[in-house]
Amino acid sequence: MKTIDKISDMQSMVRQLRRNGDIIGLVPTMGYLHQGHISLIRIARKKCDTLVVSIFVNPTQFCPGEDFDKYPRDMKRDQKICSDEGVDIIFAPSTQEMYPDKSGYSAYVDMAGDITDVLCGKYRPGHFRGVMTIVAKLFNIIQPDVAVFGQKDGQQAVIIKKMVMDLNFPIDIIIGPTIRESDGLALSSRNKYLTAEQRKQAPAIYKSLMLAKNMIQNGERDAKKIIQNMSEFIINSGDFKIQYIDIVDMNTLQSLEHIEGEIMIALAVFLGETRLIDNIILRI
Ligand code: AMP
Repeated sequence: MKTIDKISDMQSMVRQLRRNGDIIGLVPTMGYLHQGHISLIRIARKKCDTLVVSIFVNPTQFCPGEDFDKYPRDMKRDQKICSDEGVDIIFAPSTQEMYPDKSGYSAYVDMAGDITDVLCGKYRPGHFRGVMTIVAKLFNIIQPDVAVFGQKDGQQAVIIKKMVMDLNFPIDIIIGPTIRESDGLALSSRNKYLTAEQRKQAPAIYKSLMLAKNMIQNGERDAKKIIQNMSEFIINSGDFKIQYIDIVDMNTLQSLEHIEGEIMIALAVFLGETRLIDNIILRI
């Protein structure tokens, strides 16, 4: 396994791989890898000849006051995990390499319309512009045939698929399922921030999604009522502040009053200082 940190080296490598007719797979990450990332790596591994995992804590997707500086990083550990999983190349550029300030970096990818302004986009202005920009840059540098993302970031998955379609990236986008701890908590690099007490409370997030699913299975179709029940459940389960709970159409991401079709129930909460997100998809 090679670790490459220069864009020009990655590009020469890609030229060579393409000449050999290799199918290139990409799993973009911010590192501090866990079983969620590993599940995506395993999906990608089966679909390609050369598997690239990018590790880059992308400053442009963090808003002012967010946790960019303290975001967990452990390259040695990540390298061991990738090597054990049969990854061929880690692409781990520096911030300066991706956004050279001396050149007056100024090109960004953004999306007009409704899907970036709702859910997380409403509370993290500029976040998805940062995500789309870094993903487009990685796509241009690595030229993957297939790229794998997680359902854990449900809105991101919809936005990336739309970007790929609108900008004609010739890339097959695969969305892998959310991997959870045995108590339901979705794996996240940010779970590391939780105290022991908060960790005990954290499964309430997934339980609230299961509560909603049960209500829907029992015939409830009023989104407001379901959201109300979820809110009460979460607030009564610990040191939570709710940022949003929403039930949206899976394709448009717009809020539903009456539940039908393919829907995503999504939420973002603060547990103490730590912001956690989760979602489930249901077909009704
Ligand atoms: P991150 O390193 O948090 O930027 O995540 C990199 C990729 O891993 C994204 O496509 C995420 O959606 C995905 N991911 C993060 N957590 C999980 C999880 N628990 N299960 C599946 N995929 C995940």
